[in-house]
Amino acid sequence: MKESIFNELYLAGCKILKDELLSKHCSFKIGGLADYFIEIPDEDALSLFLKNIGSDNFYILGYGTNVLFSDGGYKGIVISLTKNFKEITINGEELFCGAGASLSNVLNTAIKNNLVGLEFSAGIPGSVGGAVYGNAGLKDKWIDSVIKTVEVYKNAKKISLETKNINFSYRKSNIENAVISGVHFFLKKVVGNDSLIVVSESINRRLKTQPLNFPNAGSIFKNPQGHSVGKLIEEAGLKGVSVGDAQISKLHGNFIVNTGKALAEDVLTLIALIEETIYKEFNIKLETEIKIIK
Ligand SMILES: Cc1cc2nc3c(=O)[nH]c(=O)nc-3n(C[C@H](O)[C@H](O)[C@H](O)COP(=O)(O)OP(=O)(O)OC[C@H]3O[C@@H](n4cnc5c(N)ncnc54)[C@H](O)[C@@H]3O)c2cc1C
Repeated sequence: MKESIFNELYLAGCKILKDELLSKHCSFKIGGLADYFIEIPDEDALSLFLKNIGSDNFYILGYGTNVLFSDGGYKGIVISLTKNFKEITINGEELFCGAGASLSNVLNTAIKNNLVGLEFSAGIPGSVGGAVYGNAGLKDKWIDSVIKTVEVYKNAKKISLETKNINFSYRKSNIENAVISGVHFFLKKVVGNDSLIVVSESINRRLKTQPLNFPNAGSIFKNPQGHSVGKLIEEAGLKGVSVGDAQISKLHGNFIVNTGKALAEDVLTLIALIEETIYKEFNIKLETEIKIIK
């Protein structure tokens, strides 16, 4: 990688931060320094970046609500999509947004324009790019159900992927080694809507059942087929167990909260403890939902 590329990226409008603390960029508030953290404002700058930096040399971050960075940080470049990537436009029943838009802004914009279909996403934090990558959603409704196409940069080339070619499944897409740049949603135009009632019920349910008063990264594990992992963790008596300042939430077993200055190591120790215990007690192998970034 040529050092001069940083100068070119700067001139293209990128914000380049050296030795940036990753704990500032994730909802867990955990993580050491990234060698570089680059905020990319538009597609020209993204294209320039991708043409000059190999795909193995960076990590694309959304709003960091589903990640655990290591205490040693990230040896390389972390990128984040800002400015133009947050734009949202509507054309009839189609809503287009950049991957850096927040899912909640997209939902609000849809509701204001009497477009329904995204209500299930109320209270899911994060960006549209992160939501598409991980097929975010609830038990019975995921974001793939309202996506028409996804714009992606792969090997520095922009392509448009139709939903049927993305192989979406539970908290998973097949979009790997690529940067999602924008998403076309197809929604339904209605005359008046009761979306705000649905949204506020959903937010109220989250406020009662999730430990939103402490930094966390959402569900730690995927639910195994036919089981609620939160219930299994509760039945195994693990709620409230702490290592350092990381604690298995007393409110919801599938959340680990950062009660102060938790380290990634503390969280990883709790994750290992949960995996071992659930396997021993119920013969079930758990799979993490959060992305552990080393
Ligand atoms: C309190 C709380 C509640 C939550 N509730 C839910 C819920 O109900 N349902 C649910 O599904 N999730 C939930 N989550 C998890 C999280 O909000 C979602 O997974 C969200 O979609 C992640 O978006 P993000 O922008 O924060 O992604 P990040 O955490 O930044 O990244 C997640 C993954 O997406 C990849 N990624 C991000 N942007 C792009 C891009 N532009 N191109 C390619 N890859 C990209 C990253 O590389 C990473 O692998 C919750 C989290 C919290 C903290």
